[in-house]
Amino acid sequence: MNSDIDILISEVGPRDGLQNTKVFMTTEYKKKWISASAAAGLREIEVCSFVPPKLIPQMADAAEVVAHALTIPGLNVAALAPNFRGAQGAMEAGVHKLTLTISVSKAHSLANVRMTPDEAIASAKKICAFRDSLPKEKRPIIESGLSTVFGCTLEGAVSEDEVVRMAVASVEAGCDEVGLADTTGYANPEQIRRVFKKVRAAIGDKLSGAHLHNTRGLGLANVVAALDVGVTTFDSSLGGLGGCPFAPGASGNIVTEDLVFMLESMGLRTGINMDQLLAMRGILEEGIPGEPLYGYVPLAGITKGFVPATRPH
Ligand code: ZN
Repeated sequence: MNSDIDILISEVGPRDGLQNTKVFMTTEYKKKWISASAAAGLREIEVCSFVPPKLIPQMADAAEVVAHALTIPGLNVAALAPNFRGAQGAMEAGVHKLTLTISVSKAHSLANVRMTPDEAIASAKKICAFRDSLPKEKRPIIESGLSTVFGCTLEGAVSEDEVVRMAVASVEAGCDEVGLADTTGYANPEQIRRVFKKVRAAIGDKLSGAHLHNTRGLGLANVVAALDVGVTTFDSSLGGLGGCPFAPGASGNIVTEDLVFMLESMGLRTGINMDQLLAMRGILEEGIPGEPLYGYVPLAGITKGFVPATRPH
């Protein structure tokens, strides 16, 4: 991580957010959003997912969006892929980081990617081998994004031993990093501390970050719990965009604005300018009119006398 920030925030709105919206955001607005995010100080953006346009029409312009993001100096351009074909597309497009979604819950994995968790690991192994066959400058970092780690809407409780086993298998398959996702918003802070500790004991520094949801209002409490056990990378989305696909009306991803406000107030540098970040909601209001946006800080405003940990730039 760059030494001038304490916490890396990975903005996942253009991918995770737009994947769940009803209104289509045009390519122009996506580019505008990505450029404004980088200008506000965000260092990493998951800009799209490489999925068949028939399944998710919103991602049909994935390659063009990546091409734009790659023109922004210093930006870490990330994308998601559910399978080998998508991963190939992402690598052809030239992403810096590729996240593979691998569900720990068997029922969720079958429903989502029509593979069992072990088949998804085998697929990850094939993808990593393909990556290693590319010229060095074209090889992205590959992250195993373990999903439904803290609970599953189909299976309920998810075994922590199984989470650890899948994390180890991801590393053995060739993944550089493993992130843990509370896809369903089931996690509580105590569970976060326990599971992150267990996974770190098994794979050490390969444990990369946390993708947490705010479906039941515990998103930021879970962030603090993850901070307690040394997590320094968090995914979030502007305006909490995307909601929760399992619970209409409920929020999904944690809100970037609230997350940055909390971290900066705690003295942790994110490198992000709060005013610029708040102004970016306008892009969403224009680009996807009528989509619900979430977050408290955008409504209440920044506190009087707020001193961010990040020095103004
Ligand atoms: Zn999410």
